[in-house]
This record gives sequence, C-alpha cells and structure tokens, in this order.
Amino acid sequence: MKTIGVLGGMSWESTAHYYRVLNEGVRDRVGGLHSAPIVLHSVDFAPIAELQTADDWETAANILGGAARGLASAGAEFLVIATNTMHIVAPQIGAAAGIPVLHIADPTADAALAAGIGAVGLLGTRFTMEKGFYRERLEERGLTVLVPGDADRDTVHRIIYDELVLGVVSEASRELYRGVMRRMVERGAEGIILGCTEITMLVGAADASVPLLDTTELHAAAAVERLLS
Ligand code: GLU
Repeated sequence: MKTIGVLGGMSWESTAHYYRVLNEGVRDRVGGLHSAPIVLHSVDFAPIAELQTADDWETAANILGGAARGLASAGAEFLVIATNTMHIVAPQIGAAAGIPVLHIADPTADAALAAGIGAVGLLGTRFTMEKGFYRERLEERGLTVLVPGDADRDTVHRIIYDELVLGVVSEASRELYRGVMRRMVERGAEGIILGCTEITMLVGAADASVPLLDTTELHAAAAVERLLS
C-alpha cells in the first residue's frame, strides 16, 4: 500500500472523520488487521482562518506548502488536503511537496457524473462558493454549478465557522441548511455538493430531496483507491 499524506486540522473535526473513513476503507477492502498507512500534519486552524479572512492566500500557501513538504519527507507518496477551501492553493501546496495532490473536486465530479447529475448545488465556505477555483474545476467536467443566493451564502458560511468547526451541531442550523438546499433544488439543482468537509456532520440524505455528494466521504474513498493502486 502507498502512504497517504494528510494535511489536516482545517478543521480537526473533519480530519478526525477522514482518519476513520480512510482506515475503515482499508479494513473493508484489504481485511485482516490492515489499516491505512498515513502521515498526518494537523495545523492550528486559527492562524489559517485569519489568513483566509485577510485574503492572504500566499502566506497560507507557504505555511501549508511547508507542512506538505514535511509530509513528503516523512514518506507520503501522495497528498490529501482535508478541506475544500484550502484547495485554493492546491497547486502551490503540490509544487512545494513534490508529490501528487488528490484534488477533492475530482472524485466529487466523478460521483455526480456517475449518478447522471448535470446541475449541482454547491454548499461550502464563502471562499468555495464565491471564488472560481472549485466551481470552474467542476464546470470543466461539464457540470452546471449553482450557488446559494446572498443571504443563504451568509448563513451557510456562518454556521461552518461559528458552529461546525467547533463541533457544534444544532437542529436549528440543520433546518436552515434544509431551506438553503430546498431553494437550490427549486432553481434546478439535481444534486447538492457538501463542499465543506464539516457539513456532513449536520445534514444527511434525509434532509434533501436530491442526492447529496459528501466531499469528505468521496475524497477519503478516492484516497483509499489510490493507496491500493
Ligand atoms: N473544512 C472546510 C472546508 O472544507 C472549511 C474550513 C476551512 O476553511 O478550511 O472548506
């Protein structure tokens, strides 16, 4: 098996979920006492979040690039950046590490296309919903991408940073997300991308009338395939 480098801590709540899914994937595929060979660098999220707010992606890229280089020298053969948002600087992180990055949008697009979905609703941080880096990668695969309206984007973003990354899961926020997803379905979304690695803590299949594409699960499952290839 190949060794995976996981760049995590953004937030640690979702990195913990990745750790479980990666190991369960290897257990299910290989059996016995096998588990996933992983090198993990889990950052302190607070300074990264400050750099996001300050729009200082270059400093964030330098910090994460240094961490990724460390993962490569510790034996990682490919990299999983365990957050959608920080794929903004995925090219710089990959270049610093000198090993391939398994981009989170790729298994997500694969799953949408395999399910026959043409138009997806995208939920995530403001950066993921509003900047082009994620949407364009999906559009290059032929998908139509819808993002929530202004007020709904505020709600989705606020709940991620004020609640989910702190491990707070509330019924009130779940109901708000249900409403956001309903409005995207009314606008034509045939599936909804949970494009933030913590959203899976809040909503599941029963909360929407269309299939949900859970980026944490899809990314981790693709990493298991890669480590076995
Ligand atoms: N984990 C989240 C994501 O997938 C948000 C936290 C971050 O900004 O990295 O985008």
